[in-house]
Amino acid sequence: MAALTRSRPADIVVSPGSAVFDLAVPLHRHFGHASFRAGQEDLVRAVLDGQDVLAVMPTGSGKSLGYQLPAVLLRGTTLVVSPLISLMKDQVDELNRRGIAAAALHSMLPSGERQRALTAATRGELRLLYVAPERFASDYFLRALDTVPVARFVVDEAHCVSEWGHDFRPDYRRLAAAAARCGRGDGGQGRPAVAAFTATATPEVRDDIVQLLGLDAPRVIVAGFDRPNIALHVRAVAGDTEKRTLLPQLVGSGRALVYASTRRGAEEAADTLRSRGIAASAYHAGLVDAERTRVQDAFASGQARVVCATNAFGMGIDRPDVEAVIHVDVPGSIEAYYQEIGRAGRDGRPATATLLWNYADVKTREFLIDRGRDDLDTRRAEAVDPAELDRRKALEHRKLRRMVAYADTSGCLRATILRYFGDPAVVEPCGTCGNCARRRPLEDRGRLLLRKILSGIARSGERYGRRKVAAMLVGDVDELPEGLRQLTTTGLLRGEDGRTIERWIDAASGAGLVAVTADQYRMLSLTPLGRDVMAGRVEDVTIAPPAPRPVRSARLRQGSGGARSGGARVAVKHITLASTAEPVAAVVDALKAWRLDEARRRAVAPFVILHDRTLLAIAAALPRSLDELHALPGVGPAKLAAYGEDILSRVASAGAERSSPGPRPE
Ligand code: ADP
Ligand code: ZN
Repeated sequence: MAALTRSRPADIVVSPGSAVFDLAVPLHRHFGHASFRAGQEDLVRAVLDGQDVLAVMPTGSGKSLGYQLPAVLLRGTTLVVSPLISLMKDQVDELNRRGIAAAALHSMLPSGERQRALTAATRGELRLLYVAPERFASDYFLRALDTVPVARFVVDEAHCVSEWGHDFRPDYRRLAAAAARCGRGDGGQGRPAVAAFTATATPEVRDDIVQLLGLDAPRVIVAGFDRPNIALHVRAVAGDTEKRTLLPQLVGSGRALVYASTRRGAEEAADTLRSRGIAASAYHAGLVDAERTRVQDAFASGQARVVCATNAFGMGIDRPDVEAVIHVDVPGSIEAYYQEIGRAGRDGRPATATLLWNYADVKTREFLIDRGRDDLDTRRAEAVDPAELDRRKALEHRKLRRMVAYADTSGCLRATILRYFGDPAVVEPCGTCGNCARRRPLEDRGRLLLRKILSGIARSGERYGRRKVAAMLVGDVDELPEGLRQLTTTGLLRGEDGRTIERWIDAASGAGLVAVTADQYRMLSLTPLGRDVMAGRVEDVTIAPPAPRPVRSARLRQGSGGARSGGARVAVKHITLASTAEPVAAVVDALKAWRLDEARRRAVAPFVILHDRTLLAIAAALPRSLDELHALPGVGPAKLAAYGEDILSRVASAGAERSSPGPRPE
């Protein structure tokens, strides 16, 4: 750790509530910055004011200044609780370099150094003291803290207090009480003001932060989520082959990050790129430490141009010149996605963020949520009651749904994200995302389809979400409530694909024709403009019509009925059955052998693993991707996630041995 730098205590003292004050002067003087970034000055003033504050700003946006600048200006020591020891150390080093007295207290320090930091704090020699959350479990520390005049009690990564968050830390639950016993740097009554900072806070997490950290009527500041220089794109792909084709183009010739959801996915992406002559390294938690460090350093120093990683990569990555971030699988939440793409274009130059979107990946994610949590809990060795576990899983499923909605939307991608974070900077359409770029005036056929959809929304009494309305329109009534089964619009779009209609509904909402309630029901209604379009009073509609669904394979395309909305799910199922030849005997045998093994291993009957009917359909269709497999009857999400890869590898090896009908077209 860098030596403690002693500096004079605050030489400019701001009293709470002090009015006009040119903060640009100390900003430049202590931090060397010429001006504030979006939201920063408001934040600094709010923290200076002495009110409790909740600041929600993305990583890298300069949140830290929100407490560091006040810390320099206020009497007393600013305590900063942070769970990330490496970041803590970086910040302390950086502050010391700038001549600001700061120190850190955490378990990785030798006790001598901890003692030294604590003594300096009790003497009032520090502007900032960074503290790891587990310190608050120590009585010794708490007693020492009683003698430190505290300017502000800052909680970084404040979402850690919430079980709704992704990184719950039980020690954070001690912070409200710890803050309450602190004395104030200005000698006033009561505890010092608490300022909570986080990059990710959904409404539930925000509520938890306020309540569990005991914030008192906090000023909430949400800012900085807009990254106008990052162009957002979603590319629908039919399967892994298409991903592999697109990846090298998307990586381009600049610096790029590729994110995959699994270690294997990261390795495969790196292999794909290397096979095209692009030097790419893989990074994930399965690598030995030395290799991880090597890749991280190589990227940081600029030697490695492309890193293909799981979400293990990125903490503290601050390369300003990343030009492209590509996700080959759908991430688990919008928070995770935005954090990862936020590593692009830090230098302010144009950058792109592309999500390769395949609905089959969602099934894998869902499976990971249901299973992954169990892993987590054995790792934590702490008993979590099953109801709590279910609640967490449900939350992750909900977050995933919001991510899916992003991937699926035909509306403005940027606005979708900013709305999610509650950033007031939403301007729709942004004009620069992939969907905005696709907006164009609608021709007659599209307008007619759109008008039918709008009528469907109107007829459904504006009480249903898009899935039900779409099902009603295509006449898929089996699971619909009575109220939707016999409308004049029921079956009006029979023959169309329900998911495509859902995407049209999104497009209509992106174009301002349809409103969606903000609650969990997400009920649809028409806007005044939507009514005008429905009634034919307005003919000029500018909209980003949904891209045709990717067709699932060359073989399936032949039978899929031409151009109509492409790759209709139901139609594909049907055609797969109708157009396939006989099951291939070698594949039937291989699958049966595998099924028997699997059934024994799990001590269940073979048909529980796979019905004969399904097995034969697979042996006839010979799927080559999870997508194709999923399109077969009897292969639901759970089966796909549990056995998909196994089945595909059996099909591939047994199918390759058969003599006829020769190699399949690629
Ligand atoms: P966060 O805590 O939000 O992740 P940091 O506070 O670490 O982000 O800031 C990210 C980077 O931005 C740091 O290198 C910091 O020095 C820089 N920075 C912060 N504020 C400004 C500013 N007003 N002008 C220029 N650079 C800034
Ligand atoms: Zn847009």
